[in-house]
Amino acid sequence: MHAEIISVGTELTTGAKLDTNSQWLSLELADIGIPVLAHVTIADDLDAMVAALHTSANRSEIVLVTGGLGPTLDDLTREALSKFANVELVLHEPSFEHVKSIFAKRHRPMPERNVLQAMFPLGSEPLPNPRGTAPGIWMKHTRKDGSETSVAAMPGVPSEMKQMFRQQVMPRLDGGGQVIRRARINLFGVGESQAEEILGDLTARGRDPDVGITVHEATITLRITAAAATADDCHRKIEKTRQAILNRMGTLVFGVEDEELEHALVRLLQLRRATLSTAESGTGGLLAHRLTGVNGFESCYMGGVVVPTNTAKRELVSVDPMLIRQYGPISQEVALAIAKGCRQRFGTNFSLAVSEWPAFDPDDPLAPVPASFVALAGPKGAKVEQVQHFGDPDIAKSRTAKVAMNMLRLHLIEG
Ligand code: AMP
Ligand code: MG
Repeated sequence: MHAEIISVGTELTTGAKLDTNSQWLSLELADIGIPVLAHVTIADDLDAMVAALHTSANRSEIVLVTGGLGPTLDDLTREALSKFANVELVLHEPSFEHVKSIFAKRHRPMPERNVLQAMFPLGSEPLPNPRGTAPGIWMKHTRKDGSETSVAAMPGVPSEMKQMFRQQVMPRLDGGGQVIRRARINLFGVGESQAEEILGDLTARGRDPDVGITVHEATITLRITAAAATADDCHRKIEKTRQAILNRMGTLVFGVEDEELEHALVRLLQLRRATLSTAESGTGGLLAHRLTGVNGFESCYMGGVVVPTNTAKRELVSVDPMLIRQYGPISQEVALAIAKGCRQRFGTNFSLAVSEWPAFDPDDPLAPVPASFVALAGPKGAKVEQVQHFGDPDIAKSRTAKVAMNMLRLHLIEG
């Protein structure tokens, strides 16, 4: 048994709005053991919607539709359902009372068109919508071979859709008999293919639990998915795989679920009762932005400065202009001087610095790979790392900020 999801709305097909309903519903369905075969996105177009309903209902046992239940001319889902089922739309009195009562509560006259929201394909069942005017629609479709498909139409507004799904639709669905649970492990410091190589058989197709790899701005996420009879069984399986991953990836792993490097770094600094300051040229304050986004950062992050010019470097972190003239702004020497000057200026245990940014020419394949430097100053001295700006220039800043944070994270773990 599997399901599919039809998202309705021209705002989705034009790209004006992102379809988040399908993602949310797919995760919910997986939790009750129902795999999803397809996501279909359709504009507010009656014929296209009817065609999509036929295709989906003939290939999947569950079809979830969101959007197009409103009272306006472009809301065509109820009409599409009645055409698809080849039945008339009929008035459902209790739903009409509900629609009227919503307007009465808001002290507004009900526009005539809203009566449409109480019209249902003959033989279907209205799904109450306590949060809005548009009730949902539940119906069964019999296929040519005599088997049945369940069709549920829900409002497009995510909060109304979610409540209706959990309260009305989910109890009407038969689970696939299996529970699915997921966990995510985040790591930094290797490429995707290298991570895959280290993980070896753990990422093999068909392995149970399944381990998938995704990359976002140089952070690698391993997604573990386990299916079993009970949630406990899933957690046991996930734990075993988590251990195997930790054994192989070691300190590359920095966090789980939604944790980013800044969360891991703030946690470590708090644990060591250590303080940090930052001075950035090329990343223009991104390090500071990331660190101040972590709850409780005030206990360890003392502040940061942006030092893009020679004057700023001299005035804010006491870098000798002679040094910049001698080695150039994109150099190990200047990065180290910024880190040391910043540490002095803020009186922190540690300081992270990012040097100036190289000129990018992503369209010239023969240009040398540009590089910048990140430096760490601490009680035992300073060190520096080169960051090569290969790959997607759009993520270069984010990646450089992460390299800097990771440098201190590893220093705190190892030292
Ligand atoms: P509708 O039920 O089509 O009138 O949609 C009402 C509102 O819900 C739209 O204006 C969108 O902002 C939002 N919406 C509709 N479909 C989706 C979707 N698939 N994902 C996220 N938001 C949606
Ligand atoms: Mg719509």
